[in-house]
Amino acid sequence: MKKIILVTGSSRGIGRGIVEELSKDEENIIIANYNKSEKEAIDLKEKIGDNIEIYKADVTNKIEVDNMVKYIIDKYGKIDVLINNAGISQVKMFTDITEDDWNNMITTNLTSMYFTTKAVISNMIHNKNGCIINISSIWGMVGGSCEVHYSAAKAGVIGMSKALAKELGPSNIRVNVIAPGFIDTDMNKELSKETTEEVKEETPLRKIGKPLDIARCVKWLTEDEFTTGQVISPNGGWVI
Ligand code: NAP
Repeated sequence: MKKIILVTGSSRGIGRGIVEELSKDEENIIIANYNKSEKEAIDLKEKIGDNIEIYKADVTNKIEVDNMVKYIIDKYGKIDVLINNAGISQVKMFTDITEDDWNNMITTNLTSMYFTTKAVISNMIHNKNGCIINISSIWGMVGGSCEVHYSAAKAGVIGMSKALAKELGPSNIRVNVIAPGFIDTDMNKELSKETTEEVKEETPLRKIGKPLDIARCVKWLTEDEFTTGQVISPNGGWVI
């Protein structure tokens, strides 16, 4: 049976890698959400073809999220898998973080997951089937210096996911977290070559991750039937 999968923030980076990996299975129909990067989203659609659709929505806007989910359910009747990947980061000393920075971080990285989950959940409960995968970060597990607001939002994702896993387990809905380490995407493009080399040196596997490393983990979670409420951290051993 076809599996209907929504991936937020999938024009670039990790989200794009997830769509590329999951679309290899022709039984998967993927709705690849994007916001600003229309050109990249169109390119993704052209590259992959029939089993993906691209859909523009700002995940911080409840109305746009509700409309996106309504579109999917009206067309396909269900959503089997929700992958909350869209996110932003910002490197700033805590003393420099403004109220706007704080609110933007929490809204984009955490409140957006409340909007998407709220929008899909009655359909999943009705079907007694669902898989939700929330992308957090190692900084949500151990805290990152100069990323206090990011760390707070990503820790919130972990708390939200564990609580939801308990509440939704009896409805056969699994909720898990992937907390990546350093992954080579636009999110890290501002970091100097030296910083990247330092991270590599500190990482037991001596390498930086790729979107595919996260996508493989996502794929496994979409197929598994006995894992819920867990935080899985592909990070090369940087955080153990
Ligand atoms: P990225 O390359 O900067 O891509 C971010 C993606 O999020 C883009 O596709 C962007 O879409 C989307 N996005 C941002 N705001 C959005 C909004 N309001 N509505 C819809 N989409 C939105 O970042 P990435 O590295 O792939 O990060 C993906 C996720 O992994 C994030 O949650 C991030 O925190 C997490 N993560 C990343 C790393 C890392 O080292 N890269 C490590 C740990 C966790 P548009 O461009 O279309 O707006």
